[in-house]
Amino acid sequence: MTDMRMYQQLSADIGFPESKMMPKMFAFVADEDEAKFMLAASPPATVEEIAEKTGFPLDKVESMVDPLFKKGLIYKSKKPDAIRYYKVRYFMQFHDATVLTPGIDQAFLDLWKAFEATEQREFQDAIKDQDFPQGMRVVPVNVSIESQNQVMAFEDVKTMVEEAEAVAVTNCSCRVIHGITDVPLEVCMQLNKAADYALERGTGRALTKSEAVEMLKMCEEEGLVHTVENKYGLGHVICNCDAEACGNWGHDRAYVKKFTAPSRFKASVEADLCTACGTCADRCFFDAVSMQGTDDTAIIDADKCMGCGICVPTCSGDAIVYEEVREKEFIPS
Ligand code: SF4
Ligand code: SF4
Repeated sequence: MTDMRMYQQLSADIGFPESKMMPKMFAFVADEDEAKFMLAASPPATVEEIAEKTGFPLDKVESMVDPLFKKGLIYKSKKPDAIRYYKVRYFMQFHDATVLTPGIDQAFLDLWKAFEATEQREFQDAIKDQDFPQGMRVVPVNVSIESQNQVMAFEDVKTMVEEAEAVAVTNCSCRVIHGITDVPLEVCMQLNKAADYALERGTGRALTKSEAVEMLKMCEEEGLVHTVENKYGLGHVICNCDAEACGNWGHDRAYVKKFTAPSRFKASVEADLCTACGTCADRCFFDAVSMQGTDDTAIIDADKCMGCGICVPTCSGDAIVYEEVREKEFIPS
């Protein structure tokens, strides 16, 4: 019978000490020897140190490295003196890395889906009134309409890919879990070390800078919202998020601004130019647009607008004013 205590410890270490489902998810992807290896790889450790801590022969430890790395359960810290290994540290690391493992079992994806519908939802409800910095931030659409805005480097996806030393693209782990196929799947852009990691694991495909910019433009045309880590410097990922599956919004987008910061921009409508086509209402998945103006023209609720700009390039009347409404606000560095 499986001893679940190691899996409970692994769950606790990524922030879910009380979870009933997370230990089962760890047990799905790691056998007991692998769980023991992972616990020994904290703090980061060489294969010799892991052999000593686990009591496994060195050749066994060495043979376990590649499968654990490929499954997204351990990471490598390459230093001049040695390679050290460390176990998955964060919830989103565990989510993204394991879900994208080539050949992953559908039953594992179903566990994730069930977790999101129950424990993750309860967790989000429990913390919604607490103060914490949003982990992610919406970045304005600015490949399709770049001439209209004075975007800064930290909110310019084009600059981000141009400044990155390496860019790769992976499938979107959220859409993989939910089996969503009506919007592009391979749009999760990885930068620098994250790109190197995806390529080494075999979960990503290298992009040239121009391919990456073209992909960002395609995402804007498809109505996907650019979302990055909520900090000034170049992050590791540019998500291109959809309405239904994306984990960045919190469940049902009920209190989206709690988890993801809006951009500095907001959209509004010049009623005289609006043809009442309704395209903006169809494209906005933050429910910010209603067709309730004079002659059923569009009205945008400034409180709900996340400033993504996805409604702008497709406006048939060129009626949407998309402008900076805040100075460079505080963003965690
Ligand atoms: S109205 Fe909706 S689609 Fe347009 S910028 Fe605001 S949040 Fe984005
Ligand atoms: S897309 Fe433009 S023209 Fe069409 S309803 Fe929205 S604001 Fe009006």
